[in-house]
Amino acid sequence: MLDYDLHCHSTFSDGLLSPTALVARAAERGVKFLALTDHDDLSGLTEASDAAKQHGMQFINGVEISVTWRSHTLHIIGLHIDPSHRPLTEGLRSIRDGRGARAQLMADSLAKSGIHGSLEGAYRYAGNRGMIGRTHFARFLVEQGHCRDVRSVFKNYLVKNKPGYAAHHWASLQDAVSWISGSGGFPVLAHPGRYTVARKGMGQKTMRELLGEFINLGGQGIEVVCGSHTPEQYVEFARYAKEFNLLASCGSDFHGPGESYRDLGRLPDFPLDCRPIWLAWEAKR
Ligand code: AMP
Ligand code: MN
Ligand code: MN
Ligand code: MN
Repeated sequence: MLDYDLHCHSTFSDGLLSPTALVARAAERGVKFLALTDHDDLSGLTEASDAAKQHGMQFINGVEISVTWRSHTLHIIGLHIDPSHRPLTEGLRSIRDGRGARAQLMADSLAKSGIHGSLEGAYRYAGNRGMIGRTHFARFLVEQGHCRDVRSVFKNYLVKNKPGYAAHHWASLQDAVSWISGSGGFPVLAHPGRYTVARKGMGQKTMRELLGEFINLGGQGIEVVCGSHTPEQYVEFARYAKEFNLLASCGSDFHGPGESYRDLGRLPDFPLDCRPIWLAWEAKR
């Protein structure tokens, strides 16, 4: 079992637990090194870092940035970022502003299918924080009885060709990587197995082009062991890591009890011959 968890979410994006509760849960479950990686938002980091001190846990400032690359939406994790780095904070602010406009379009689309009040409903879950996303809409749709759970929402709503979908243009890969690197952080490609899903995802050739471009821009890591990967995908992406000389990262992508594939502190070890991403910051000390 790995005692690192470098990808999870709090109520400052679309997680269900406050940073304090999230850190406490991670500590209970044996995590020794934790990164909070809220979507496009850094507001939970101070609270999480304070809580980690109480538990004697090493805390790593993180973020998960939404990116559009070609026709694909990608997520780029930044680890050990500096939360006061202006290009990063300004860039994230502009992504969150775009999320506000997108939420309105999603609500308009749902209204056309006879589902009203979703904007207010989603904001009830998002609170007054800057980040609103599909998970908040999903919780509203479950609450209103349209779907059994959040996971099934993403089969029938909020995705391409379904009610509530709004096409959106996120940050560029170049910007996301440079904001992270510029702040002293390490850019990591999140859950690559999600981009290669059968039929609608990218093929191996495109994945290789993506990895080549990511590295040229300054990308350093790739998630190998993560909540949404199968054991076969651990091996598949360990091979990519080796081929492209990328460091391997790991994270549960935990959002909350009952809403995630994997809980905190339950990640199996890397396949052999992965070089873990923490070597990068340990080397800097
Ligand atoms: P957004 O960035 O607003 O498009 O929302 C993306 C978020 O939706 C992800 O971070 C997940 O939390 C959630 N999500 C996306 N696909 C699924 C899925 N198939 N099952 C559960 N949650 C999902
Ligand atoms: Mn999420
Ligand atoms: Mn993600
Ligand atoms: Mn995530």
